[in-house]
Amino acid sequence: MQKVLVVDKNKQPLMPTTPARARQLLRNGKAAVLRRYPFTIILKNREGGETQPVACKVDPGSRTTGIVLVADCKRGQRVIWAAELTHRGQQIRDALLSRRQIRRSRRNRNCRYRPARFDNRRRPEGWLPPSLRSRINNVSTWLKRLQWFCPITGIRLELVRFDTQLMQNSDVSGVEYQQGELWGYEVREYLLEKWGRKCAYCGAENVPLEIEHIVPKSRDGSNRISNLAIACHPCNVAKGNQTAGEFGHPEIQGKAKQPLKDTAAINATRWALWRELIATGLPVEVGTGGRTKYNRVRQNYPKAHWIDAACVGESGETVFIPATMCPLLIRAAGRQSRQMCRMDRFGFPRTKPKQNRRRFGFQTGDLVKAAVPNGKNAGAHIGRVAVRASGSFRAGAVDGINWQYCQLLCRSDGYEYPGAASFR
Ligand SMILES: [Zn+2]
Repeated sequence: MQKVLVVDKNKQPLMPTTPARARQLLRNGKAAVLRRYPFTIILKNREGGETQPVACKVDPGSRTTGIVLVADCKRGQRVIWAAELTHRGQQIRDALLSRRQIRRSRRNRNCRYRPARFDNRRRPEGWLPPSLRSRINNVSTWLKRLQWFCPITGIRLELVRFDTQLMQNSDVSGVEYQQGELWGYEVREYLLEKWGRKCAYCGAENVPLEIEHIVPKSRDGSNRISNLAIACHPCNVAKGNQTAGEFGHPEIQGKAKQPLKDTAAINATRWALWRELIATGLPVEVGTGGRTKYNRVRQNYPKAHWIDAACVGESGETVFIPATMCPLLIRAAGRQSRQMCRMDRFGFPRTKPKQNRRRFGFQTGDLVKAAVPNGKNAGAHIGRVAVRASGSFRAGAVDGINWQYCQLLCRSDGYEYPGAASFR
């Protein structure tokens, strides 16, 4: 189970507690619910208390980022809270593209328009595309939130996919015999990245891939990283004792000689995130993707973003994950629409420009529980609310609910919680 986050009466973070203890405190009136996501209780007459070190571990991914909190226990480290944060990179890219197209079409149609900007302005140092920037902002937002409710003393981050320092020493002797070693994992991650995670010969994806010698070992091929490629099992077997050239792929030999050029570009987002986390003032430890995978496989944990996060770095070597642990699902949802007013199908304004975003104490995106006593919508509905000035709201999929039947569960905070409907 996830532990429940706890703060004292001055909202200073205390050690997280078990759900059973939290229920007891709530029942006895000694605590109240402060926030549902992440679930946090506030103790009514406690001030201060002892805390142990808690580390926040992050595995940044392009689509989903795993975040876990770990605390020391008898067996090493123990996961006490976990979450999977889904980003909205593609959505942002699409929105910017559509804005650009709308502006361009107005210029062509001879309408009133915003002039095109030319390449006469410099981008600030460390600029990232908005879709990547949003990923970094999501992670640092959640780290900040967790810091309010939990005494975090350190951060551990998977900074790079593989250790480029280790790759410099290019002779990889006996990779096959070292599959279980950390070294082998770093080599594998490097090769997977270099060959685009697909078979170098037939381009097969999502199949088990093997490390393969371009010039076979039986013909004096070396174990250097420049002589290694990634192949699917059928290709590896079919190639057998041939070189890549004899096998009908002379281009492979040339490509293998080139070092992986854009390692920096691949890792740009992660480095930007690292700088952001350093700015929090907490000690930041870093690990590599090879190390994460090594730790996860050695401890027989299944593949999941939050489990990868738990296995990050040297401290991930022995980490205890309770079998009943399931992560909080978080989906970045954005806050408001940028558009000033809605349009009809001809592109003319359909509504008045944006006005007061709050209606009757509710705001579009708030999570509400609506208990309708009678009528065609009678019953209880839980979902995100869409507000109207008329007071007739939509809650989840149900339209036409009077605002007076709605009860606020959680304010709109830019994120959705897909598991929310099951919440009592
Ligand atoms: Zn193949």
